[in-house]
Amino acid sequence: MLAAPDEPSMTALLAEVFSTSGPLAAAVPGYRPRQQQLELAESIAAAMAGNRVLVAEAGTGTGKTYAYLVPALLSGGKVIVSTGTKNLQDQLFGRDIPTIRRALGLPVKVALLKGRANYLCHHHLARSLADGRFLTREDAAWAQRIARFARTTRSGDKAECVDVPENATVWPMVTSTRDNCLGQECPQHKECPQHKECFVLAARREALAADLVVVNHHLFFADVMLRDEGTAELLPACNTVIFDEAHQLPEVASLFFGESVSTAQLLELARDAQSEGLAAARDCLDLPRLCSRLEKDVRDLRLTLPLEPARCSLPQLTARPGFADALATVIAAVEALAGLLETQAQRGEGLDHCWRRASELLQRLQAWQSGSNEDFVRWAETYTHALQLNATPLAIAGIMQKQMSGHPRAWIFTSATLAVQNDFGHYCSEMGLVDAASARWESPFDYPRQALLYAPRNLPDPNSADYAEAVVGAAWPVLRASGGRAFFLCTSLRAMRRVHELLADRLARDRLELPLLLQGEQGKNELLERFRRLGNAILIGSQSFWEGVDVRGEALSLVVIDKLPFAPPDDPVLSARIERMRSEGRNAFLEYQLPRVVINVKQGAGRLIRDETDRGVLMICDPRLIAKTYGKRIWRSLPPMQRTRELADAVAFFSAAAESAGR
Ligand code: SF4
Repeated sequence: MLAAPDEPSMTALLAEVFSTSGPLAAAVPGYRPRQQQLELAESIAAAMAGNRVLVAEAGTGTGKTYAYLVPALLSGGKVIVSTGTKNLQDQLFGRDIPTIRRALGLPVKVALLKGRANYLCHHHLARSLADGRFLTREDAAWAQRIARFARTTRSGDKAECVDVPENATVWPMVTSTRDNCLGQECPQHKECPQHKECFVLAARREALAADLVVVNHHLFFADVMLRDEGTAELLPACNTVIFDEAHQLPEVASLFFGESVSTAQLLELARDAQSEGLAAARDCLDLPRLCSRLEKDVRDLRLTLPLEPARCSLPQLTARPGFADALATVIAAVEALAGLLETQAQRGEGLDHCWRRASELLQRLQAWQSGSNEDFVRWAETYTHALQLNATPLAIAGIMQKQMSGHPRAWIFTSATLAVQNDFGHYCSEMGLVDAASARWESPFDYPRQALLYAPRNLPDPNSADYAEAVVGAAWPVLRASGGRAFFLCTSLRAMRRVHELLADRLARDRLELPLLLQGEQGKNELLERFRRLGNAILIGSQSFWEGVDVRGEALSLVVIDKLPFAPPDDPVLSARIERMRSEGRNAFLEYQLPRVVINVKQGAGRLIRDETDRGVLMICDPRLIAKTYGKRIWRSLPPMQRTRELADAVAFFSAAAESAGR
């Protein structure tokens, strides 16, 4: 068993752990030492020992997961590891951490902490079963199964309730939100002989007692940084925070450092207040009346905006007939409900809690309506049945700095895509990381031999009407040469559907039988599984396939990107940020828009080469890559592939691959 080392011996220990004769080599099949991995681990260990901030880019194949987990497990301090998705969280907790812990013989206590919506809530389950207001018969049947599960489960994690699908509509009725959790007033809050302990609080207590806690970015920003009940002590107690997939943080931080209020929250308040009234204040006849009025006013507000999902700027909202009046009516309805709930609050914890929720929602609605904070941009997002009013910070740097100040600790930001060429300036300034050290480790893959970047000639302006036709025309001979085995990544859903139609026509016309898969026709994981199994498919996708997708081997040998992924300039948050930067005399294009495109293209390109034996072509169709001076910054930020503008080279790449594979 390895003991937690003193700082000077850490370097030697890491060299031993990552060596050919070390414990990892003995425990992990196919393990090979990589210089980049060792150096990254050493830098992370040094930053941890010195309570410093490190921003580290590690190319695909560096082995960055082990490079941060080994020092984290050896450090002897408390560490939070935050990653991009629940899937990655499960991979770390279920596979990588147990492997290293076993290999190193470390008795480190590890906890997995998910967002509260993942845990069954005793209070809401009991309340829903008692008032029986389920939307469908199926929901009612599922609720009975969940009640049985509640009697036997130890964790209350809904992922363990295999009898009920994870996306079943009953879950929001038997889990809690930060809004509707009763907190201290809940009978389940404290362990006592009559009541089962609250699952959310139990999971948070375990996380507090653990040496290493695995969370995801949403949970980190929503609960840990903003200190929800039961997680408030987590950050102050920890010595190191490690963010993997750290390129996602500006987006996530903007979301959680902002304020928002949704029609779903208001409808849920009306529903809960009505149900608490039935349980504890049946004689208060005004309560159901005010709840119904709120429900109606909220629905009327949603109807003032178009039905299609969209992101609307404040000028668009205020120009909409009826919007401002409908909002004022909703605010008056919440005010009336809050006033009535105050008079009933002492009749039960549930009513008291609804009163507090109503007051908080009222305050958020009024703040949104008045828009007194000029550092936030107000906008709204519409969904098919809902509307969310948002106030998003124009800059997150100052808020991040405030959150990171106080108790000294190490902060590690790592990802395969953080830098623009060798420059981390845009990331550090956006995130407010003023004194951060930064470093890059190249991928160990042999890119000049394994990959080719192909930028076709003669493509029209990406805004022209027939651009999708031109892209499919240019990509078709390459798709034929590769025999499918391709991702076709589009920058919009509209382009994605058009490309799908055009490719289906081409396949039919040329009587080629290559399977065509389209994002959305199945769940992402099922679609990827089919893609891998088929071995000659073309998968057409947009945003959700640009990152976090790992297809090794020959099934993926060609990645086609239709356009450089610039965010739409009329996006309400983007345009307000651009405006603010311009007013400060800064160049928003170079400082903000271009770096985001570079990171996205690097992510898209990163799908192609996943290990030493992968080979493939990256085809970027957008003519701006070559025609514009900024294009150079994009392709120079990509791994060092061979480059060509000739179709014949791209086609020949696949014939050479087929020959060397003996096909
Ligand atoms: S404390 Fe909150 S989450 Fe826990 S049982 Fe009570 S209401 Fe549910």
